[in-house]
Amino acid sequence: MKLTLQILCNKCKTTIKEDDLVTIDIINTLCHQFCDDTPGIKDRGTYKEIAGKYPYFYTEMYH
Ligand SMILES: [Zn+2]
Repeated sequence: MKLTLQILCNKCKTTIKEDDLVTIDIINTLCHQFCDDTPGIKDRGTYKEIAGKYPYFYTEMYH
C-alpha cells in the first residue's frame, strides 16, 4: 500500500510520517505514541502498520 495522505497528529498537529510510532484510539483518532498516553488506545505501531490493519481509516480520510 502506498501512503500518500497527509495525516496530522491530533495532539501536536504535525504531519505523521509512515515510519512514525502512532496510536489509534477507540474513535480512530491517530496520535504519535509520544503525544498520546490516554486510556482507550485500541492499537499501536508505525503509521504504516496501523494503516494496513485499518484500511477503513484511509477511505474515511478521503471524504
Ligand atoms: Zn504528535
